[in-house]
Amino acid sequence: MSRSEPRTTPRIERRFTGIPVCDGIAIGPVFSAAEPAALFKPRAIAPEEVPAERDRLEAAILQSRKQLAKLRARLGVLPEEAQAEIAPLIDAYIHMLGPTRLTRGVRRRIPEQLVSAETAMAEECEAIARAFLAVSQDDMSEEYRASQDRRAEEVREIGRRVIRNLTHQPFRSFAHLPPGAVLVSEFLRPADAALLEPARLAGVATDEGGADGHTAIMLRALGVPAVLGAVGLSGGMRSGDVAIVDGGVGTVVLNPSSAALDEAHRAVTQFARARQRLGRLRRLPAQTTDGVVVELQANLELPIELALIAQAGAAGVGLLRSEFLFMNRETLPDEAAQSETFRTVIEAMGGDPVTIRVLDWGGEKDIDSLVAAGLVPELADSNPALSLRGIRLLLRQPELFEAQIAAILRAATAGPVRVLLPMVTCVAEVRAAREIYERVIRRLRRAREPLPEPLPPLGIMIETPGAALSADALALEADFFAIGTNDLTMYTLAVDRGESSVAHLYDPLHPAVLRLVQFATEAALRMRKPVSVCGEMAGNPRFTPLLLGLGLRSLSMNAAAIPRVKQALRGVSFAACARFARRVMEQPDPQLIAELVAGFHEK
Ligand code: PEP
Ligand code: MG
Repeated sequence: MSRSEPRTTPRIERRFTGIPVCDGIAIGPVFSAAEPAALFKPRAIAPEEVPAERDRLEAAILQSRKQLAKLRARLGVLPEEAQAEIAPLIDAYIHMLGPTRLTRGVRRRIPEQLVSAETAMAEECEAIARAFLAVSQDDMSEEYRASQDRRAEEVREIGRRVIRNLTHQPFRSFAHLPPGAVLVSEFLRPADAALLEPARLAGVATDEGGADGHTAIMLRALGVPAVLGAVGLSGGMRSGDVAIVDGGVGTVVLNPSSAALDEAHRAVTQFARARQRLGRLRRLPAQTTDGVVVELQANLELPIELALIAQAGAAGVGLLRSEFLFMNRETLPDEAAQSETFRTVIEAMGGDPVTIRVLDWGGEKDIDSLVAAGLVPELADSNPALSLRGIRLLLRQPELFEAQIAAILRAATAGPVRVLLPMVTCVAEVRAAREIYERVIRRLRRAREPLPEPLPPLGIMIETPGAALSADALALEADFFAIGTNDLTMYTLAVDRGESSVAHLYDPLHPAVLRLVQFATEAALRMRKPVSVCGEMAGNPRFTPLLLGLGLRSLSMNAAAIPRVKQALRGVSFAACARFARRVMEQPDPQLIAELVAGFHEK
């Protein structure tokens, strides 16, 4: 949220600290992602639609209040003068969503004028804003006029927030993003991040977000220098500010001094040189000093990443998150469209395997096309991470699942493919999924569709403690395991992966998480089932020796991380990694584990 009233105070350097999410330095003018109006079509409704529109309005008001309360609660970490500037603004917004003229007026407009909730909200806000501005024209005092202008803008801003929540539209349209800008926003949904064009953008910084949330994953996939969870940033910036975003250390500097700018320019040059050096590793084998070969694959979220994957020298795609196919569209992609996209990826991999994960809806991944199709509720459950996520939704909506399976099988004639099930917690889910899988195979056979030979293996994500601790039983049912350390960490430690206020507690090196990774890996190896890690842990070169030492030989990560992980493993022997992992696993203290991992070097 940014104040748009004119201000005369000088631009002073201000520093914000957040979570480093994607390496790289960005320097550029800020672009506030909260400026333009929310888009919607004014709509008349029939009298019988009134109750539903009222419900939508109440839900959006509640959601808006929750968002603002969350922002308000987190201001405590800011310096006092920043709090003094931002807190009253947020309080004003929260107040407006209480029992005020605004909310009463919107509620009345729906039945009286028979208009949709967003139409009523926009019209009421505009009427109130105009009333403020009309008063200001007759008043001589500059100060009073400025305060009326500000109040008018505040009403419009709160209206935009509610309308954005009503329309579920991406938080922002990025069409007007000036090339080379730093995008600053209070919050960025994964679907918003999917709309960014990395070539046109210098960097991203937000108030909200966690290191391994899906927005962070998208930004890493795009290779955009990014800092999330920089509290107070969007409230503290002004249009025309310049920002430096250091995505490696997690800092954002607004209006940097010339010394800070010089230093940032030097850092940009160093970063580019280091990247060039890493690029030379592309053709070298991913092999430890004692000859153990490790499979390094890429995660793929957006088709735009295919070029990056080719440059990084990935040995295939270890996790294709098929959610991207369903995002930022109003209708569901049909079987043919899905198959076409999968085929493009498979062909681009030129014979290297592609692991396609069927739709993992839920948690923070809100997908409008599924809501529009009536397959998922419009309002998230109170605890979406524990609700109808991943395989649970697919088993509840078998047509959705069958269409995906058929699309994958059709595309799989183009090259080696594996099918991956998300959010498994028990054996029954794998059995039920396999039944559907086999049913689709039989249907395609009857229709004389060409099928891949051999048929794609059916594997599962190990990303819940329930799955990890049942890994021995699951290894009898699943053809392979992909360990998702992002959700595994979240569910094991009860820490939301996308929530900046608890980001300091989100720790994949916690012994509880490591023990689950070890248990699942050993269960797979005992049954001679392939096992990989495809959570963000796999892309952190500091964790590479530990993961190898735990027995993993296959890691899948954002493409840009592959050279660094390759460099890390080419410098160690497998024997030393195994010794190191034994030492780490004896440690009960996460802090000491972090120190051991940071200090690892082969004697
Ligand atoms: C994970 O949970 O670790 C994972 C790879 O899946 P996602 O990040 O898509 O939830
Ligand atoms: Mg997951």
